[in-house]
Amino acid sequence: MTVPDFLIQPSTNPLSDAEREKLLASPGFGRYFTDHMVTIAYKDGAWQRGEVKPYGPLSLAPSASTLHYGQSIFEGFKAFTQPDGSIGMFRPDANAERFNRSAARLAMPAIPPELFLKAADELVRIDQAWVPKNVGESLYMRPLMIATDPFLGVRPSLEYLFVLIASPAGAYFPQGVKPVTVWISEDYVRAAPGGTGEAKCAGNYAASLLAQAQALDKGCDQVVWLDAVHREYIEEMGGMNLFFVYKEDGQTVVATPELTGTLLPGITRQSLLELGKQLGFITREQKLTVRNWRDDIASGRMTEVFACGTAAVITPVGKVKAHGFEFAINNGENGPVTMALREALLAIQHGTAPDTRGWMHKI
Ligand SMILES: *Cc1c(COP(=O)(O)O)cnc(C)c1O
Repeated sequence: MTVPDFLIQPSTNPLSDAEREKLLASPGFGRYFTDHMVTIAYKDGAWQRGEVKPYGPLSLAPSASTLHYGQSIFEGFKAFTQPDGSIGMFRPDANAERFNRSAARLAMPAIPPELFLKAADELVRIDQAWVPKNVGESLYMRPLMIATDPFLGVRPSLEYLFVLIASPAGAYFPQGVKPVTVWISEDYVRAAPGGTGEAKCAGNYAASLLAQAQALDKGCDQVVWLDAVHREYIEEMGGMNLFFVYKEDGQTVVATPELTGTLLPGITRQSLLELGKQLGFITREQKLTVRNWRDDIASGRMTEVFACGTAAVITPVGKVKAHGFEFAINNGENGPVTMALREALLAIQHGTAPDTRGWMHKI
């Protein structure tokens, strides 16, 4: 498909170079937004012309159905400054695909991947000065789609708005990578079979906040989700996928819970299954119960655990707590397999290792 040119309305009062550089010196995560955004409306069964315009409030009817019935999906990917000064995005085509799977689950229209990618290219092009330059830093891209019908009847909306905003992201661990403590949630579940767990929809996050608050209350950083049916199988950690490292017959095995329909299929997860093989590890998708987890740590067969996702890349898990027990992993320290995978992925994203799989999308 050929995508029509976007309507470009540059901001008349972008941040000055000095102000922007001040924000970029310590951007944190999701706090500051670039000068522009992209919007694309969907009506009469078709996507309208894309628009690049100043970042600012949206105008929405109070009756807009997204506000009532939650037809709302999003994505997250990153743009990195490359060694030659150009900008590369990590696997945005995979995000476009997943966006459309999420859309299908929420009875929303698909957006042509070419249109999704053009939105990303146009926004990075106009706000290129906002892409941080240091290792570990990036421009976080946040596409979303909401239902905009001004109608209180319960049915899929006929009109939608696609929006893309961008936010500079600093190194997730400015003081160096540090393992997190997790709380196994036995009181709440994230996703049930037949539900929306596979979709990146806003409602999944709303439903997770109370469990996350409980985890904090228990002195933990993050919640670990169990399957809704048996309340036994490990699924994910917060908004990240989990990996378990084993030593088996002198081999290193890097394993992750298999996709059952209630896990979010992470692009970082998929990338690490491929990268792990390249680093000489055996990679595996499997089921794993809480009991297996405790036993395999106790026996020494499992040596490391980490979580992965776009925002934090890889986060080691150093301690696990639940009602009635707790245990440490690798003495609460960063493990070598975790750190090797982290380095390998960051090197591809920053363009310091060859991109043999065509993961980087240059603009
Ligand atoms: C987005 C997300 C992930 C991670 O996906 P990536 O594509 O690796 O960023 C994992 N779990 C949940 C619940 C998510 O929403």
